[in-house]
Amino acid sequence: MAKTASTGSIGKGSPKMKRVDVLEEYKKRNAEKETLNLVVVGHVDAGKSTLMGHLLYLLGEVSERSMKKFERDAEKLKKGSFAFAWVLDETDEERNRGVTIDVAITKFQTAHKKFTLLDAPGHRDFVPNMMSGAAQADVAILVVDATPGEFETGFDSGGQTREHAVLIRSLGVSQLIVAVNKMDVVNWAKSRFDEICAKLSTFLSQSVGFRKQNVTFIPTSGFTGQNLAKCTSEALLSWYSGNTLVEQIDAFEPPVRPIDKPFRLSVTDYFKGGIGAGGGGGAVSVSGRIEGGNVQVGDSVTVLPINEVGVVRAIEVAEESVKWAVAGDNALMSLTGVDMTHINIGSLLCDPSAPVPITSHFRAQIVTFDIDIPLTIGVPVVLHHQSLTEQATITRLESLINKATNEVTKKNPRALPRNVAAIVEIKTSRPVCLEKFSASKELGRFLLRSGTVTVAGGIGMSEDCAPLICF
Ligand code: GDP
Repeated sequence: MAKTASTGSIGKGSPKMKRVDVLEEYKKRNAEKETLNLVVVGHVDAGKSTLMGHLLYLLGEVSERSMKKFERDAEKLKKGSFAFAWVLDETDEERNRGVTIDVAITKFQTAHKKFTLLDAPGHRDFVPNMMSGAAQADVAILVVDATPGEFETGFDSGGQTREHAVLIRSLGVSQLIVAVNKMDVVNWAKSRFDEICAKLSTFLSQSVGFRKQNVTFIPTSGFTGQNLAKCTSEALLSWYSGNTLVEQIDAFEPPVRPIDKPFRLSVTDYFKGGIGAGGGGGAVSVSGRIEGGNVQVGDSVTVLPINEVGVVRAIEVAEESVKWAVAGDNALMSLTGVDMTHINIGSLLCDPSAPVPITSHFRAQIVTFDIDIPLTIGVPVVLHHQSLTEQATITRLESLINKATNEVTKKNPRALPRNVAAIVEIKTSRPVCLEKFSASKELGRFLLRSGTVTVAGGIGMSEDCAPLICF
């Protein structure tokens, strides 16, 4: 049952508590600047951290003093060029290894929008971490390295450029900026930029399913800062008159948020104790992105799959204490009445009057990716759903279908080769909270991985057999 934001219903706090008209408040909040969640992906060493660190610096988000300290620290380790990357890579371990592991979140603003930046790691082992970052993203920047040979390494099969593009699209990102980075290395050569754009553009539209008008290519140098906020290089200006990276980021369209649907939040982290005045030591705090609906202080919420009801005592969005939060917000909330040992990464909080279905055996529509070994019945896979990972097996191959029309092209196939769409049955070793795609785009989609390879993307089946991913 869909609940509107302004009406009270089961699960909506005590009647004495002052209720906020969330839809009204949300309109007011958006009248200022709308917030989008941005993820930055790409092959390791493409320059993601340097690019975004430099961008944050140019936007005034990093103090001169912090930057000087980063530079000094980097000098000490003889890795001077990493200084900008360190804006994002905070831990000593990451500094010493020079890689981003956690999905670090930072805020920044452009002329018309606010952004929450989910910086995604690039190492192969870290793809599952990246997926939990990407699962929260509305829009993305794919960073590729223009250095001769380096773009090719990232783009070849086995490189992460392809895999990340497929992952973010499968997780629902539909608007993309491709930063063709390290253009300083090739002296801003138009021919190199054009070559990379041609290869990627065909791949992104034909193989990954991005609409051409939703993908923009920008030549950049994260290192020198050229064409991030300003374009001053004569070599570049001689052939480029398009947007800077900041202008293009500002031009992202805010997605439509399902704020009037039932409340859902997928837990990406949790800890003991409350935040602010949020219930003290008996409380537990959880964070994650709100996938649907809205929530306010005083609301009851059900924790799934354990099915325990708690009360929301405090909420923070972007490190500010707030009374309410809506779909699209990354929220931190304190709950009372819930046993912390019953909460896990991947648990789901939802409206008690409209819980998410729990299942361990379901029908799904999947598309296989660029796999070498066809999928057959019984192959063990890991299901990634929001921040949850669960062992699973494909128990039935019902049919192959046409990707465009959804018509069945073959019943009971023996195996699923690469790049096909199919209807299958999947069993998970423990119950998962999965919605039909028709009910929730956000909670209706999942990925299947085998070893270190993402083998397929899928959606929970809806009665009307809706298309797999809305291209
Ligand atoms: P990430 O793994 O994608 O986050 O890449 P980093 O930001 O850590 O950068 C990897 C390496 O490339 C570092 O040595 C950077 O100094 C270097 N680098 C990053 N951006 C640029 C750039 O625009 N031009 C040049 N010449 N080097 C860059």
